Amino acid sequence: MSPATMHILLDTVLKDLSTDTLDESLEKLRFFFPETLLLGALDLIDRESVIMYKTPWGRAQYEVLGSTATYTVFPGLLSPKGNASAYCTCPAYAYSVLLSETQLMCKHVLAIMLARRLERCIEQPIDADELASVIARQCSL
Ligand SMILES: [Zn+2]
Repeated sequence: MSPATMHILLDTVLKDLSTDTLDESLEKLRFFFPETLLLGALDLIDRESVIMYKTPWGRAQYEVLGSTATYTVFPGLLSPKGNASAYCTCPAYAYSVLLSETQLMCKHVLAIMLARRLERCIEQPIDADELASVIARQCSL
């Protein structure tokens, strides 16, 4: 099965995911992800590490607080090959998703996708100046 097909299937599973169907959806997600990745993502949500900066004009910018660094995640970006639906600045994303293509996404991207469905993102309102400084910090990493 091609990665693009996997992503379409995965989208379907994620669309059905809600707090009511969580157990059932996690069962299906095990088809796509190793247990460690899935548990890692759930752990990030439990630790309230999924931050959504919300601008007054309705844009959202996502960050995940990892154990050693903060990563910026861009959900919903398609790569030229169509094999990634998001992007994350962590090393695992670069190696296992982009280079070796052994995984569909890293735990940060998964955490954001799950947190958005479960409404577990930590929302932080942000104005234009603050957004500029967040982006400046992210670009200097
Ligand atoms: Zn990541």
